[in-house]
Amino acid sequence: MGSSMELKNKRVLVVGLGRSGVAAAFFLQERGAKVTVSDSKSEIQLQSEISALLDRGVSIETGRHGERTFRDQNLIVVSPGVPTDQPNLQHARTLGIPVIGEVELAFRFLQGKVLAITGSNGKTTTTTLVGEILAESGKKTLVGGNIGTPVISLAGKSSADGLVVLEISSFQLETIEQFRPWISAILNITPDHLDRHHTFQAYADAKARVFENQRAAGAGENQTTGDFVVLNADDPACVALKDNVKASLLWFSRKQPLANNADGAYLKGDEIIFRQNGKEQTVLSRGDIHLKGAHNLENVLAAVAMTMVAGCAPQQVRQAVNEFRAVEHRLELVTAINGVSFYNDSKATNVDATVKALESFPGNVHIILGGKDKGSDYTVLTPLLRERARRAYLIGAAAEKIASQIQGATPLEKSGTLERAVRQAFDAANPGDVVLLAPACASFDQFENYEQRGRIFKELVMALAPVVSGGKS
Ligand code: ADP
Repeated sequence: MGSSMELKNKRVLVVGLGRSGVAAAFFLQERGAKVTVSDSKSEIQLQSEISALLDRGVSIETGRHGERTFRDQNLIVVSPGVPTDQPNLQHARTLGIPVIGEVELAFRFLQGKVLAITGSNGKTTTTTLVGEILAESGKKTLVGGNIGTPVISLAGKSSADGLVVLEISSFQLETIEQFRPWISAILNITPDHLDRHHTFQAYADAKARVFENQRAAGAGENQTTGDFVVLNADDPACVALKDNVKASLLWFSRKQPLANNADGAYLKGDEIIFRQNGKEQTVLSRGDIHLKGAHNLENVLAAVAMTMVAGCAPQQVRQAVNEFRAVEHRLELVTAINGVSFYNDSKATNVDATVKALESFPGNVHIILGGKDKGSDYTVLTPLLRERARRAYLIGAAAEKIASQIQGATPLEKSGTLERAVRQAFDAANPGDVVLLAPACASFDQFENYEQRGRIFKELVMALAPVVSGGKS
């Protein structure tokens, strides 16, 4: 897709041994590159990754990033977890060594057309749904990226007549060069990862890179079909990007009909309408959607715009949406015990996702908050907590900060651990109440990742069931 790259006998350094780094190292090695991997973690922490790489003859540097290792390369592939302003990378750039990410590397080898989804929240849900709709429509579809399967692992499986749906994070977009989706979408831009991007503007700029190489039909060399960008008309930070878009622009809105006869998807009464070149089609109705919350309606609207412009038929879009249920850890209903419903939204790792989770319930919410702080402003939660929460249960390293910022909005319980929080919430809840894990924080202070946090929450909840089978104590 991008200009291809000769890898044979090239010295390539892979920085960062995450899932995508390991996949990139294997890919490069299979194509004849002389691969070194470097990770600042110790060998013991990386044991499982390392043994497979050593078996394949990859050189490994752990526990540090040696300056010479960076100087002596033809190409450096950097993982999304590694800051791009890391001094060794800066130095390598001044020596003229190309520094790219795994997504860019993959793009040079991917076949077929790419649909890329980015945004602060909703990426995984929307990416999964788009994949399901395309598959339902009989299109050859691969799904990957930030969502699980590294993009580079799809390169060998992709085919010229297929589609590749990618969830792309802002970190991954920092290290692209030629990456050019056929259809891209930015779902929303709300403050997140300010510990890494420093300013909201820098974060929004990183997201906007998803469409920087896209072009409208007729522009550029050998261009037959044009590219498309889908933006959220209800999000001012998305609207602010519109003048930078060179491809054809589509909008989605759950709040208003699209202004000026613009192309895209919107809600008219209970129906979701898709409009392109002035032609309107009813695609589905709200009753076809089984996901909770207004935010998920936005995800569906984005998916409708992307798949309709990709040529899917309304019946297939409706069918796939109708069959779609919450992705694990995204406002997932765990169970109801004695009339108390438990929702696992462990993926609510930032304040906006927690706002959306609270907005999905009219009230009576016992909310579990806390974890590793990402420099967030929790005061934003105050009005919703006042309105909809019965009590908040604080866990993890951010508990004190959250307590001081939301004080007075709802009664607080300093639970410390998830286990205590679940127990205390259940003890306090009345039939009809909701216990919601939507912590507004990362998980790394007490858990390996948000998936583990969500799984443990579900286990703790399920363990309550037998205890109370004879009635709540
Ligand atoms: P991402 O992949 O961008 O993190 P997910 O689909 O995994 O997105 O959802 C992440 C969190 O954000 C979940 O807590 C989910 O309930 C919430 N969420 C999902 N879609 C949206 C949206 N459009 N706006 C705000 N929050 C959302």
